[in-house]
Amino acid sequence: MPGDKVKLIAVSKEASVAHMEEAISAGVIAFGENRVQDAILKHRVIGDRAQWHLIGHLQTNKTRDAVKIFSLIHSVDSLKLVQEIDKEASRIGKRQNILVQVNASGEKSKFGISPMELMGFLKEAVLYSNINITGLMTIAPEVEDAESVRPYFNALRELLAKTKPIVEGIANGTEYSNLSMGMTNDFEVAISEGSNMVRIGRAIFSK
Ligand SMILES: *Cc1c(COP(=O)(O)O)cnc(C)c1O
Repeated sequence: MPGDKVKLIAVSKEASVAHMEEAISAGVIAFGENRVQDAILKHRVIGDRAQWHLIGHLQTNKTRDAVKIFSLIHSVDSLKLVQEIDKEASRIGKRQNILVQVNASGEKSKFGISPMELMGFLKEAVLYSNINITGLMTIAPEVEDAESVRPYFNALRELLAKTKPIVEGIANGTEYSNLSMGMTNDFEVAISEGSNMVRIGRAIFSK
């Protein structure tokens, strides 16, 4: 059922540590940050009292720091990055959970693998043994009417279903089931299309 089990990622990129502490008291268990350096600083204070999710673009030269603190990297969009994450994870004996970011809308300004290239990408990425591909992520276009982005969320769910046999077949024991989609403006539509991870910033942190 849609909405059966949806994980809330509280996007804290514009929140202070004090506000994040309040969010923890209110029951938040996972924060989403879009810059590795900011997350490292906040992690020094908050530590592992919350989970850390990287939702912003990751540059390969920040991979070592990212692998240190993030339980899930939502924004993997190149094989070069996969290679780098695999290498850094191996160095510290970690199996890094990742999502593949898909550019479902095809907007030029957006990062992500195109839907057409996803299958080929996964067939290679799945061969790296220190990463665990647990699903897909997308960012919908900013629009007035959230209903108009429903097709992109629907497309992501279909892509997950279509690529599931490849990922779970090759990477034994991997559960490839996460759909990270939905933000403050469009999370209801995303959940009704099967999202099980919403990334909410403004609705939680802005006054
Ligand atoms: C900022 C951000 C969010 C949260 O957006 P809100 O509109 O504040 O809910 C979610 N995902 C990504 C990738 C972001 O950069």
